[in-house]
Amino acid sequence: MQKGSISVQTENIFPIIKQFLYSDQEIFLRELIANAVDATSKLKTLSRHKEVEGDLEDLRIEIILNEEEKTLTIRDKGIGMTEEEVMKYLNQVAFSSAQEFLDKYKDENSIIGHFGLGFYSAFMVADKVDVITKSYQKGEKAVVWSCTGDPEYTLDDADKEARGTDIVLHISEDSKEFLEEGRISGLLGKYCKFLPVEIQFGTKTETTYEGEGDDKEEKKEEVANVINNPSPAWKKTPKELTDEDYKNFYKELYPYSQPPLFWIHLNIDFPFNLTGILYFPKLGNNIEVQKNKIQLYSNQVYVTDEVKEIVPEFLTLMHGVIDSPDIPLNVSRSYLQSDKNVKKITSYITKKVADKLEEIFKADRKSYEERWENMGVFVKYGMLTEEKFYDRGTKFLLFENVDGEKFTMDEYTEKIKPLQTDKSEKLVYLYSNNPVEHDGFISSAKKAGYDVLKTDIMIDNHFIQHLERKMNNVTFTRIDSDTIDRIIDKDEKIESVLNEKQEEKVKTIFTEQVTTMGASVELKALSPEDQPVLITKPEFMRRMREMSGLQGMDLGNMPDSYNVVVNTNHPLICEKLLRSKKKQGELAKHLYSLALLNQNMLKGADLTEFVKNSIEILQK
Ligand code: ADP
Repeated sequence: MQKGSISVQTENIFPIIKQFLYSDQEIFLRELIANAVDATSKLKTLSRHKEVEGDLEDLRIEIILNEEEKTLTIRDKGIGMTEEEVMKYLNQVAFSSAQEFLDKYKDENSIIGHFGLGFYSAFMVADKVDVITKSYQKGEKAVVWSCTGDPEYTLDDADKEARGTDIVLHISEDSKEFLEEGRISGLLGKYCKFLPVEIQFGTKTETTYEGEGDDKEEKKEEVANVINNPSPAWKKTPKELTDEDYKNFYKELYPYSQPPLFWIHLNIDFPFNLTGILYFPKLGNNIEVQKNKIQLYSNQVYVTDEVKEIVPEFLTLMHGVIDSPDIPLNVSRSYLQSDKNVKKITSYITKKVADKLEEIFKADRKSYEERWENMGVFVKYGMLTEEKFYDRGTKFLLFENVDGEKFTMDEYTEKIKPLQTDKSEKLVYLYSNNPVEHDGFISSAKKAGYDVLKTDIMIDNHFIQHLERKMNNVTFTRIDSDTIDRIIDKDEKIESVLNEKQEEKVKTIFTEQVTTMGASVELKALSPEDQPVLITKPEFMRRMREMSGLQGMDLGNMPDSYNVVVNTNHPLICEKLLRSKKKQGELAKHLYSLALLNQNMLKGADLTEFVKNSIEILQK
């Protein structure tokens, strides 16, 4: 038996490992299994060129839990190590800068986790580690190396027959959790699901049926419990895969999600290596929950699901897998953001997504339109946040009008140009976020031959402002922000049939009724067929309000500001109201209430009173 001391430049690396990596202890398993996979892959490569000792058929890696002995073993049938290699690889922790490194990055927990400490991470959970190994080379003897976590180690002959390496971890008292089957299963599921070599963890019972009909016999059999899929879809070529395969793989990644809308298979060798599949998920109501679900792998080893730095922000809504050995993992976040490779990866992915969207749009517009409801958010979000994507997106962004018809930006401009250009040559896009509530406004716009777009609150508020900045001389105006002749001002004024004195009187009557804070009365000569009284909400004020609301500002009791527009040409105003001797206030109030009702703004006691009054009027 030999004894010796591990050569580390820093005094002792183990306390450092324990101390700094404590929060991410569990990665030891990933590190050790990754080593086992490496050793196995190397063997496969070597066996193509020269003769190697032992079986080449079954190269499965085994994870063996022994609760009685309190050990966890990682067993591979890979290249193994000779005595000399053990000395060379395990005894020299070439880690001169370990202390320095850990000091520098100790605030960046997640990075520490990504930083492969390799074999020595075993000492985070074990107070003794045995490495029993036999090399693939002919005539080499098996050896056992043991170490208790201080720099002292022993090295001895072992009686291991099979080629490969057993790493036996004597789990320490404060890491007992790693002796629980459930905990290990969980970790294997997290880190090893797609490793390229089969990983076995215990056995499972498989039930098969033999024979037909009544003679059918149930057969139970103990079989190896293989926890991974060694050839995941993203490692195949698109030609090998059917739509069903892509959907099944999505299910494998996210068992509880609805099927994806479509996907993009990424595959690039130059100037960096990257493979993967990105899916557009069906978005539910809560987008935040669906964000940041892309998993990052490095040669099929799970690294993280925090890919914010690699994937453009708007694509964090996508799901799937990115696998790249070229993404530097052992560096800080700020470095990652300025890393040239990462920048290239980001723009590559952005381009790929734009290509795919354009392709579907061109090839099958109908199905693109059908999926628009879900995809719109990606496209708009992308156009908002990525300059390059904005330019691409102008080709496949769709506007939807209140009748459900969809148009590209160019098509829509052509459609509305003739009628919706105002006197200053500005093109006016009309929109409604609630066609049901705005029905009255929409029908008067339609009567004038105008078209109204349908928007949603969440993203369109920002998106509209963005479009106004990017497009030339256009404005977006919500359909209830003013009377339609003023939204699209064409200098064609309707004359009021009232004289100044009469107008003053009408104004006084209404002002007495409109007592709500934030509301003001305005007279307007509209067509006699228009509503007698209208509620409008000026675009600018409303946007300000919505924006600050979205940013989480508490506007508390600040009243909604709106205008009460009185149509002086409506017979109820210019004739009935002015002529009637008494009850002018009553009539004005009733008309005002109707206008509020039309905007869904009449509530509570006011609504009750209105209904009561209406019934009384009908009874008269
Ligand atoms: P790294 O894997 O980053 O090189 P490690 O500390 O994990 O660093 O391992 C050091 C070396 O020990 C490896 O490069 C490899 O040569 C050897 N080694 C570790 N585990 C095994 C194993 N299961 N089979 C064969 N060699 C191994």
